[in-house]
Amino acid sequence: MAKYYPEEVIEEIIEKNDIVDVVSDYVKIKRKGKDYFGLCPFHNEKTPSFSVVPSKQIYYCFGCGKGGNVLNFISSIENVEYIDAIRMMADRAAVALPESNDRGERERSGYIKKLIEINTEAARFFHAKLNENQDALTYLKNRKIKDSIITRFGLGYAPDSWDSLLKHLTSKGYAERDIMSAGLLKKGKASYYDSFRNRIMFPIIDMRNRVIGFGGRILSGEGPKYINSPETPAYNKSRSLYGINVAKNSKAERMLIVEGYMDCIAIHQAGFSNCVASLGTALTRKQASILKKLVPEVIIAYDMDPAGRNAALRGLDLVASIGCDVRILEMPEGKDPDDYIKLNGNDAFGRLIDKSLPLVEYKAKLLRDKYNINDVNGRRKYLNGIAKAISQVNNAIDREVYIDRIAKVHGIPAESIKDEVSKHLGESEAVIVDRSRRLTTAIHIETDNEIKNFMSIAAIMCARPELVEYAVREIGSGIIDNERFVELFTDIVQRVENKGVSDAAIIMENLSERERELFSSEVAFAETSADMRKTLEEKIVQYKKAVMNRRIMKLTAELDKRTGLDEDEITRLQGELAQAFEALRILKKK
Ligand SMILES: [Zn+2]
Repeated sequence: MAKYYPEEVIEEIIEKNDIVDVVSDYVKIKRKGKDYFGLCPFHNEKTPSFSVVPSKQIYYCFGCGKGGNVLNFISSIENVEYIDAIRMMADRAAVALPESNDRGERERSGYIKKLIEINTEAARFFHAKLNENQDALTYLKNRKIKDSIITRFGLGYAPDSWDSLLKHLTSKGYAERDIMSAGLLKKGKASYYDSFRNRIMFPIIDMRNRVIGFGGRILSGEGPKYINSPETPAYNKSRSLYGINVAKNSKAERMLIVEGYMDCIAIHQAGFSNCVASLGTALTRKQASILKKLVPEVIIAYDMDPAGRNAALRGLDLVASIGCDVRILEMPEGKDPDDYIKLNGNDAFGRLIDKSLPLVEYKAKLLRDKYNINDVNGRRKYLNGIAKAISQVNNAIDREVYIDRIAKVHGIPAESIKDEVSKHLGESEAVIVDRSRRLTTAIHIETDNEIKNFMSIAAIMCARPELVEYAVREIGSGIIDNERFVELFTDIVQRVENKGVSDAAIIMENLSERERELFSSEVAFAETSADMRKTLEEKIVQYKKAVMNRRIMKLTAELDKRTGLDEDEITRLQGELAQAFEALRILKKK
């Protein structure tokens, strides 16, 4: 994880924001023994499995596995970036954050702040003007937009004038140059003029509730139907999603993605608050990763006409490749969601959502339309396309399910489809292997089980400082073969030696998200479990086995190559290999 602030500062922030206090602002928790329990805010449940461990300053949910320290909690519950959680908790505890050393960065963030201030003032102005303009109000009324939605999304109206916003903002003391940088002015031959005129205004608000840009729909007369703010230092289109400020608070497990402002608003009004607009036909990597953090599944309700379809599908492959489940909602007769809801009602739209197709099934459907499967050639192309689509599914079990289904539908042996799929899978995996080889041959990747196992060891050491000595004796020198794990191990040992406590909440600062979840789960468990010494022994044996197996594989591979090795080296490697085998033999007896 990138270090934004010095470690001492982060430690101070964690120490000064007691996790029980902070969590209590969001979740009702009750004391049970040493720990606190409540209903988890991150998943739906009826009996409390969300725990807060004051002695370790961490939280952990036994239901959904979310866990971490106070900063992770704020980052998750407020849906803000980690650095913003640090800033919020620094504010709360009145800890002064050091100014960034980078002068350029400091000036830039100050400038972004100013542009956002200008945008915010403009949004207020547009919103106030809406109530003064009968045509604009009538338009929204005809589109059946309720007052509550107008307020929630801060809709507004840009007057039919060349300079009403300009005059308003300059009267508030903002310079023309800055208003132009915010994307609200254009420069004519002699003077500046308002970019948005006679338009219904949609403020684009980010996760942190900041107005970063605008979309404007023409009310009458000539000109493009929609215009949007240009990219500015405050507004980056590829990482913005319209409606995210509202949708991020939805408890739903999936997110609907539409193309335009009006569709997004109509869907919210129909009672589905889990909807954002991407404001483009293809989702970007950044947008996808924002959504991935919020929900495990996204449903696309784009207008999938043949023209835009390929771009849209590329975006969807991207979302799928980072591990989100993707479904496609096809609008009947090419209607947009707004019209569909007006005609058929909210419930009918809900049923459409439930009928949305997984990405791979949608692709299969397109292929079926494209090829004549009664013809041998067409059928081969069709199955080949499907095999490719299935190979892009991340989960192996899902792939099996699709292979079986396709096999049944077309009366083809599942094995032959499987072969095709593995060919495609082989292609993509070969690329990855090749790339990692070029980086370094020493890199190895622990399996999830192994990470889990090591996190258990670390967690037990944190929960039971008296067992640290034993762990040091067993794996303290030369066993751990992953640099990050060595760091983690040393950190715990040093803290226990110096202070007698392990500071689990601070230690997890340097862990990845997955590691942190496993770590906090194990700490929470180690707190409550009795015979930790025995568990630790078992975990250490398991860990050593994995290390020895890896060592054997590596040595065997090196000996296999042999090229460039002299006799001495070969003898040395063979000696090491024999030692590793012997160590593994002893471990297996345990
Ligand atoms: Zn939970």
